[in-house]
Amino acid sequence: MKTLEVHCLGTAGYHPNESRHTSCYFLPHCGVVLDAGTGIFRLPQLIQTDHLDILLSHAHLDHVMGLTFLLDILYQRPVKEVRVWGQAEKLAAVQEHLFHEAIFPVAIPVSWHSIDQQPEWDLNGTKMSWRHQDHPGGSVGYRLEIARPGSTVSDPLAQVVYATDTLGAEDDQTLEWMSGADLLMHECNFDDQNQMWAEKTGHCYLQKVLQIAAHTQPQRLLLTHINPIAELNVKDQTASLPFPIEIATDGLQVAF
Ligand SMILES: [Zn+2]
Ligand SMILES: [Zn+2]
Repeated sequence: MKTLEVHCLGTAGYHPNESRHTSCYFLPHCGVVLDAGTGIFRLPQLIQTDHLDILLSHAHLDHVMGLTFLLDILYQRPVKEVRVWGQAEKLAAVQEHLFHEAIFPVAIPVSWHSIDQQPEWDLNGTKMSWRHQDHPGGSVGYRLEIARPGSTVSDPLAQVVYATDTLGAEDDQTLEWMSGADLLMHECNFDDQNQMWAEKTGHCYLQKVLQIAAHTQPQRLLLTHINPIAELNVKDQTASLPFPIEIATDGLQVAF
């Protein structure tokens, strides 16, 4: 079966640093962009579709400020349609504040789509579903079901779960919804020494993510939203887990 790729365009949380831009991941085959942090400037040469669907986990700046770069991105690589998806209140905040006349006085050529009314949506043939997450102000996790290139209707869909800016799911229903993905992209903003800060700020630490992954059994685990000062040591952990674990870095492509 043919593999799909996710491109890591921005893998930091909070602020960019010398090696990481803020959160943005791209699946060229289906034109889905996960969050719109500063890493989104790397998008143009990777676009393969005539449409883009940008899914926002929430409206904190490290996930939305790259929306203001779209004028240039779409000048370099025009597409027919760009849709931005997220919770209605988050989209309203972005439109009202990020695109306030005093901050960025030009409208971007996108349409805004609230996800609130339905738990599942069809994005040009890719099934998207979402769940609430625990994070200051609230955030959502996404699950994508994508047809592999050249697959027939009877072939299984590729499954990706993107959970960022979250305290980490603990309830059975959400864990069930996250289960069995080909790729689990999960934030790990803190190392284990900083568990207290993770809990205070609505983020995860390594042991918490590994517990979630042990419960949901993905084929592979990609740690995202890396805090510039976190020291994540996954090497000692991998022996006991039946799936590979990688730490996302800018420019990394992960096949699944
Ligand atoms: Zn963030
Ligand atoms: Zn956040």
